[in-house]
Amino acid sequence: SQLANQIAAGEVVERPASVLKELLENSIDAGADRIEVEVEKGGIGLIRVRDNGAGIHHEDLALAVSPHATSKVFHQNDLTRLVSLGFRGEALASIASVSRLSITTRREADEQGWRVEGSAGEVTPAAHPPGTTVEVRDLFFNTPGRRKFLRSESTEWGHLEQVFRRLALSRFEVGFSLMHNRRRILQVRSAAASDALERRIGEVTGRAFLKTSAVVDFSAAGLRLWGRVAGPEAARSQADLQYFYVNHRLVRDRLIGHALRQAHRDILPEGRHPGYVLFLELDPTQVDVNVHPTKHEVRFREARLIHDFLYRAVRDALEPDLS
Ligand code: ADP
Ligand code: MG
Repeated sequence: SQLANQIAAGEVVERPASVLKELLENSIDAGADRIEVEVEKGGIGLIRVRDNGAGIHHEDLALAVSPHATSKVFHQNDLTRLVSLGFRGEALASIASVSRLSITTRREADEQGWRVEGSAGEVTPAAHPPGTTVEVRDLFFNTPGRRKFLRSESTEWGHLEQVFRRLALSRFEVGFSLMHNRRRILQVRSAAASDALERRIGEVTGRAFLKTSAVVDFSAAGLRLWGRVAGPEAARSQADLQYFYVNHRLVRDRLIGHALRQAHRDILPEGRHPGYVLFLELDPTQVDVNVHPTKHEVRFREARLIHDFLYRAVRDALEPDLS
């Protein structure tokens, strides 16, 4: 079953960046409003995520890393998981099967914290402030075949940083920090105010994009699209500034990609790529976000309507005179 889990891990754990994504989504799910990430050697040596979220019930700790439980039922956190990013309760178990993993956690109501190491580890008392720290060391140390497929430290770091930036743009109310090899790379404060978007986009993507992009804020038919889109003169030579969120979940989707490309047609110079940070908000019953645990796909009930809406909203922002 360790082997079965290592195979299953291939689904979820491709590289350090995919580990970070799972850990950050768990921290967000746990209602944290401060998340600190420390990385060493591009994430191959260490990924440590510390949050101030709800913590894990000590009876759930072993279950969370266990390769056996097929349908896991966890104690409910005190907070209601309104929009859960979680998928099937297998991410931590998968990561544990291909790394040296430890979790230290404490719930606010508990007198002490608890810690577990490895997938078969026993749960022992440990000191921890309310919240959870997950530490993942030596990714793929026990699966040399997979380890061989990792790229250079700096390539893995690049992917990991991209995941961090994407998640950091998904929740303005959460403060994030990122360290690599003990150097501070990025720190964004939590902000609930209406200027939060501007500030965070500036912090995560850089001021240049803020200065050269057009504001999008368009509502129709119960849908809202807001954020920023780069004007034609600020179009990019790489597709490296494309952030799209559906109900605050990062999405990469063919339909969305198509609508955005259409909206840029005849506007973008040849060989240039659109740049955008966009948030689509709609009734959660109109979209299925759990199509695949890792591929960021979504399925809209009314695909055609969404496509046309996105096209219109972005086109309007790019060519205000036409509207
Ligand atoms: P999933 O997120 O799909 O439920 P995971 O393997 O990622 O599966 O996590 C298993 C469970 O462990 C979660 O459902 C949650 O109850 C708990 N958990 C994981 N990480 C955290 C965290 N940072 N804070 C609180 N609970 C967590
Ligand atoms: Mg999860």
